[in-house]
Amino acid sequence: MISSPGSSRPWTTAVACLFLATCLLAQTAGPAPAPVVVVRAAKLLDVKAGKTISNPVVIIEGDHIKDVGPGLAIPAGAKVIDLGGATLLPGLIDAHTHLLQNYDFALGGDDNNMVLTVAQMSPAERALLGAKMGREDLEAGITTVRDVGNSGINGDVALRRAINKGWVSGPRIVACTRALSGVGGQFGHLQHEAEALVKQEYVEITTVEEARRAVQQAFYDGADCIKVIVNTGPRVVSLDEMKAIVEEAHRVHRKVAAHAIGDDATRVAAEAGVDSIEHAYVVPDGVLKMMAAKKIFLVPTDYPEEMYSSFLPESVSPEERKQAQSEMKQFVQGSRDRLKRAVAAGVPIAAGSDEYYQMGKRTRGESSVLIYEAYRESGLTPWQIIQAATINAAELLGWQDRIGTIEPGKLADIIATSADPSADVLELERVKFVMKGGEVIRNDVSAPHAR
Ligand SMILES: [Zn+2]
Repeated sequence: MISSPGSSRPWTTAVACLFLATCLLAQTAGPAPAPVVVVRAAKLLDVKAGKTISNPVVIIEGDHIKDVGPGLAIPAGAKVIDLGGATLLPGLIDAHTHLLQNYDFALGGDDNNMVLTVAQMSPAERALLGAKMGREDLEAGITTVRDVGNSGINGDVALRRAINKGWVSGPRIVACTRALSGVGGQFGHLQHEAEALVKQEYVEITTVEEARRAVQQAFYDGADCIKVIVNTGPRVVSLDEMKAIVEEAHRVHRKVAAHAIGDDATRVAAEAGVDSIEHAYVVPDGVLKMMAAKKIFLVPTDYPEEMYSSFLPESVSPEERKQAQSEMKQFVQGSRDRLKRAVAAGVPIAAGSDEYYQMGKRTRGESSVLIYEAYRESGLTPWQIIQAATINAAELLGWQDRIGTIEPGKLADIIATSADPSADVLELERVKFVMKGGEVIRNDVSAPHAR
């Protein structure tokens, strides 16, 4: 409504007075102080020192940790969340996720699923799927992920932005956009006419110049990191191409994650100086030694043995089942052995799930945290596993100043378990409390007892 000039407008005076009063108040009061929240519990895992602190008090201001220590005084007016006998630890970090993929065993293996996913789902639809997967990760205690490709054209960047803007609830995301790969990416055989699908999921490189350009493109598209598929069958990215990728990424202080399996591919990745080698189910001792010397992380995407049996469709014959199970046993033993050798060689370990199938009724988060059980089967101690999933993974992401420990100045990403996971690491499969950036995502800790 527009009033004519000269008309009596008492309401404008009232509005002006109100506006003036608000301005004056704002000038004198300054910005409202961030709310203070205190979380207390029976124990806290100091993952940097590898020790347990009793009677911890964590003081949180806004989204950051202001102070932490045993028996600190509670600031006046703070909101107190008392988790009783629970154990606090930093939010879990999954350094290898594919939130925009949720494959179905009933459709067959990776080849069939990839064709159907890429051909049928737009990046927008996949980002919405990622919102569900991300929410499930967060509820399981995974407060940060490094999402390493297979997200259509920049669907992962869309999801990261949506989460950062608060449109949807999910973990912090370090996004890689499309993975760089040799011709055909990780697709199985396609008719020539269908090869356009590859570009939805991968950026193919066959020369050093294409490698450099692909890294530039990823950063233009919003990537935080670079993912390279070093080998798919006999298609292996060359050492010169890998070196160009690493140089181009490191020049702007970004990290490179390399999918590599087998002697040649892991050697190419390590020689090029990538920041992490993913999977490496087969890797020679010489490469492990190089990884330790260059501080290249191994991200062992391993699962408990019984998980692999659920990969078998019901339609297989008893003979096929027996054969497959014996092959799986061998594969699992090989994986356990290489993780033991990696730890013995001094290779830093960061936890990563590589979960991208619907595992029965389990949520994405519930199946992703089963990796810790596999690490335990390789002989890692609970502390080694907890560190792989917190402080080590934070360092791999380059976010060691923001997350990975419960320390002053870090983001308030805190989880809690009923019993101490440094005694029984499988407690990490039963996270009861999740806070991300000072916001309580869930709290299923039973009513605390007076202590
Ligand atoms: Zn993967």
